[in-house]
Amino acid sequence: MPQDEYIITLPPPTANGGLHVGHMSGPFLAADVFYKYHRLAGHRCVVTSYSDVNQSYVRVTAERQKRDPRELARHWTQDIRETLEIYGSDVDEFYYPDETSEAFVRETFLKLFRDRIIRKKEMPVFYSLERDEYLDEAGVAGYCPRCLAGCKWGICEACAYINDATTLVSPRDTITGSDALELRNIEVLVFEMELFRPALINFYETHRSFRPRYLELITMALAQPLPDFPISVPGEWGIPLNHAELPGQVINAWAEVMAHLVWCYGRTGTSSAHSRIVNFFGFDNSYFYGIVHVALLIASGQQRWLPHATINNEFYNLEHKKFSTSNNHVVWARDLALRYTTDAIRFYAAFNNPGFEKANFSEAGMVSVLRTELIEPWHAIVDEVFSQIGANEGAVALATPEIVALGSAALSRIGMSYTLGHFHLRQAAEDILHLLSFLRERLAHQRLPITDAVYLIKCFAQAAYPIIPIAGGELYRLVSGRQLDVFDLSPAVIVKPLPRSIFERESLIAADAA
Ligand SMILES: [Zn+2]
Repeated sequence: MPQDEYIITLPPPTANGGLHVGHMSGPFLAADVFYKYHRLAGHRCVVTSYSDVNQSYVRVTAERQKRDPRELARHWTQDIRETLEIYGSDVDEFYYPDETSEAFVRETFLKLFRDRIIRKKEMPVFYSLERDEYLDEAGVAGYCPRCLAGCKWGICEACAYINDATTLVSPRDTITGSDALELRNIEVLVFEMELFRPALINFYETHRSFRPRYLELITMALAQPLPDFPISVPGEWGIPLNHAELPGQVINAWAEVMAHLVWCYGRTGTSSAHSRIVNFFGFDNSYFYGIVHVALLIASGQQRWLPHATINNEFYNLEHKKFSTSNNHVVWARDLALRYTTDAIRFYAAFNNPGFEKANFSEAGMVSVLRTELIEPWHAIVDEVFSQIGANEGAVALATPEIVALGSAALSRIGMSYTLGHFHLRQAAEDILHLLSFLRERLAHQRLPITDAVYLIKCFAQAAYPIIPIAGGELYRLVSGRQLDVFDLSPAVIVKPLPRSIFERESLIAADAA
């Protein structure tokens, strides 16, 4: 049977701040779990992404903080990479855009222009009378014409719909708040998406591996005429278009994502026709990935890089309010990792995951769940196993066929929640806890031979590994004597004492006591 080969993309993070708990618990955790599971299942997987330094949000943050945007982008890119490492996220490539990749992006669009697939056309843009210059997307704030949420020019994070300069409600300068803005029509490069409606319909008729809300957005977008999408915009921050007829323009960073990801795919070395793209991102980027990028990939003859599947997530709120860096309503992922093990944070993020609906993070809630659902049961199991070890310590023994069947069934069920058709982190976490509580109760009632108990721990370690890689890997090594590099259902186990405090740091115990 040919192996599946997956190219997994992390959402290119905007390099104007670090990763908060909402980012980390969303697409970054999901992509990493998907990667870790499929690697153990024997598939070839590559994780790739790049730093989205050319977003106008980087320029606006730099202006607000009176910093050089280049320095800001470098700083946060490094911080983001470190955070991913702290959380044990496997990333094969995290590209920092350079002259070579930017030339590739530019040429992708200039070729589409030469081929008359994108055209020079007038579009309305915002001009600031106070600054005496054109504003970029993040430079203009307003309200979404569709859901009335506060948003920036270009995209509404709340409903994921795009807006333009004529539809954004009550536009004002993001930084100064001034509404002394003028609409000016200027020639830019434009992608007439409506021309690709049949291709989009055909794509979504034959590809259905997307979550319900994403497909709903696609259906609603296709129910009306598709707007023109600007490929170039006036501005200085971004990849210069370098076209004599359109001076002073840069490539729209949302269009750039398509081409920059193609650049990343090309570097993975996966040439096989079996390689499948699986994109991970937050729901707010669905319109770009689902409509703009799909249409652009088809328009540029790059069908082989069309998404095989998409796993997107909803927002993760903090204490029932949106994470907000500017309002300091935020918990940074790397700060949280100073107080708790990354396994504990990852487990709670899976247990409480915003995969299909918005979810709420509170540190107190996390501590409570970890204590009652994971740590206390684990302590009870370890204590019970230790009390029964006796003369068996260090023995290699075989579990009974009955428990091998039960453990294998649990592992298979949990594994299903990591696969494309059924990807569901909450379900996986819940079933991991079922396995743990089964083990605890059977041990407490003295109905489980020690070898069988250790076998179930071996299954637990493997089933939970994609979510809690440090503890999962360590427990598997202890009870099998091997590194975990492929799923293993063999009945052999090694009976030995197990670490009691594998999920907690001192601070969790302190919070627990308080
Ligand atoms: Zn909206």
